[in-house]
Amino acid sequence: MKYKSTRGDFTVDNSLDGILMGIAPDGGLFVPESLPKYTGDLVELGELKYEEVAYRVLSLILDDIDEKNLRGMISRAYSDKFSAEDVLDIHTCGNMHFMELYHGPTSAFKDFALSILPQFISEGIKQRGVENKVAILTATSGDTGKAALEGFKDVENTEIIVFYPLDGVSDIQKYQMITQGGSNTHVVGIKGNFDDAQRALKSIFNDRELAADLKSKGIQLSSANSINIGRLLPQIVYYFYGYGNLVKNKMINPGDEVNISVPTGNFGDILGAYLAKEMGLPINKLICASNINNVLTEFFNTGTYNANREFFTTHSPSMDILVSSNLERLLYLASGRNGAMVREFMEKLNNEGTYTIGKDLLKALEDFSAYYVDEVSTLSTVRSIYSKFDYLIDTHTAVAVDAHKQYIEEHRDYRHTLIASTASPYKFTSSIGKALNIEGEDDFVLLEEIHNKTGVKIPQNLKGLNTLPITQKLAIEKNEIKSTVVSILVGEND
Ligand SMILES: *Cc1c(COP(=O)(O)O)cnc(C)c1O
Repeated sequence: MKYKSTRGDFTVDNSLDGILMGIAPDGGLFVPESLPKYTGDLVELGELKYEEVAYRVLSLILDDIDEKNLRGMISRAYSDKFSAEDVLDIHTCGNMHFMELYHGPTSAFKDFALSILPQFISEGIKQRGVENKVAILTATSGDTGKAALEGFKDVENTEIIVFYPLDGVSDIQKYQMITQGGSNTHVVGIKGNFDDAQRALKSIFNDRELAADLKSKGIQLSSANSINIGRLLPQIVYYFYGYGNLVKNKMINPGDEVNISVPTGNFGDILGAYLAKEMGLPINKLICASNINNVLTEFFNTGTYNANREFFTTHSPSMDILVSSNLERLLYLASGRNGAMVREFMEKLNNEGTYTIGKDLLKALEDFSAYYVDEVSTLSTVRSIYSKFDYLIDTHTAVAVDAHKQYIEEHRDYRHTLIASTASPYKFTSSIGKALNIEGEDDFVLLEEIHNKTGVKIPQNLKGLNTLPITQKLAIEKNEIKSTVVSILVGEND
């Protein structure tokens, strides 16, 4: 399978080349040249273990990795790092089926991709005999950072640098990162937000002079953000698994269409669902749920993407994003792979902060319904799901629930819906405490207090974080990202 850039003709011959590069030299993102159909039986799908579903789905797209190798990678990624019985649990409340994607090593759905991406990268390094060290640069709105650090920690021939917004993540998220161990890990706080970090990193990836300079020192850059196609593909799998589970439990008949609601930031998770639909999974609507950083809601409803707006920090910080990178892939696919048009939109976005798509393309996006949820409703949704169903969800998941509710109010479409439940509520204890009227002097005391009140188990990886030594102390201005990358990667040699 070849992989093409969203901005034109740049092509790589296979997935591992695309994954190692991270982003195409023309600034575009890699997309598989075609999306093969999943032709397996949907009743059988419900009988398969997660790892088998992963193999059947991923082998269609990652056809340059042989079966034994791919199965090995999947097994190393999922067989003992997740605490759920079969990688994820599915919890039903009425017509909503919560796919609990947060039982991995860092308690957010990012673990699904970031426990396997390092293996793709290692395999690429091995197969190509790359002598360079691969340096992974990552911007995080809170969850990607820790998941990437855990995934790449002590992986041979790699170095990982994570940039997070100093004032834009929860205390638990911050402690997860600043206590990170490993000999190849670097965590840098920036005085800015996720968009600042992502923009700076994209420009570093496109900096040919820097690339040449690093190459001469044996260093090649790649990304662990969902701009990397290797981050995206593993996120298709759980939608297949979730669908199979509904068939197995006789919630739906094989072939019935379901809706899917996804709390959305960088548009990676929901794009996984879109790719699943394109591969033949029976999906009706994809509900794109945003917080008050509602740039995507406006886009899907009007066709205008406008990042020139106030940025808010919210109770769902991992979605505090104004430039959703993966939308570029959707525009490419939905426009019939019109790279020239995508390039034009992206240049406009870069120069003017806004672009407007034509009526035909907007029509091609009708698979999506978009809603946003304000701060008060986010917390009241956590509270109402808890009191109605005795079920505790995190604030991001609450945004998906309320968006789904708005969708039903508008369309009266009550069909079964998979909700992407993206994080453990224990990552956002101060918000959950507010929602449930539970008090505690800091986020770590709240961890215990919420447990005492709800009985919900605290993930092992979040316990005692505040007693670990702080190993990562770097804090910089947002215009120092490039110089920081250079000094971390080559500083010692200069
Ligand atoms: C990253 C994240 C999201 C948003 O996912 P995208 O792929 O960036 O759209 C939602 N919820 C949580 C908890 C996250 O960590």
